This record gives sequence, C-alpha cells and structure tokens, in this order.
Amino acid sequence: MPHMPSRMCVICRRRFAKAELTRHVLSETGALLRDERATLPGRGWYVCSSPVCLQRFEKYKPGKRQRRPA
Ligand SMILES: [Zn+2]
Repeated sequence: MPHMPSRMCVICRRRFAKAELTRHVLSETGALLRDERATLPGRGWYVCSSPVCLQRFEKYKPGKRQRRPA
C-alpha cells in the first residue's frame, strides 16, 4: 500500500488526502492566491472542499495580521 500524503484543513482541522484540499499561498501583496497546481513556493494553507470552510477561509486571511496600521 502506497503511503497517502495527508494535510489538515486550516479551518475544520480535519485531515484529508492532499488531492482533496485546495492549497493557497500568500502573495507579495498579502493576498491569498489559489495554488491550483500546488507548485508555488512558500508556506501553504490547505482548505477542504466544504462550502463552510471555503466561506470561513475568505475571512481567515493570515496576511492581514501583519499589515495592521501602527
Ligand atoms: Zn475544512
């Protein structure tokens, strides 16, 4: 049996096969880009295909915290 790589959805924290998750990476401008082919460098955030998770991920925006005005 080949080992199945699994990743955790950042919203519901359930584990899925990597192929079932959508990878997002943070762009230089702080926007989250959907990494369709999972080839972009940098830290990735994985979200499962649940509509609830996708909706909550819209507000997750990990880059915003670092862009808080002084
Ligand atoms: Zn999820």
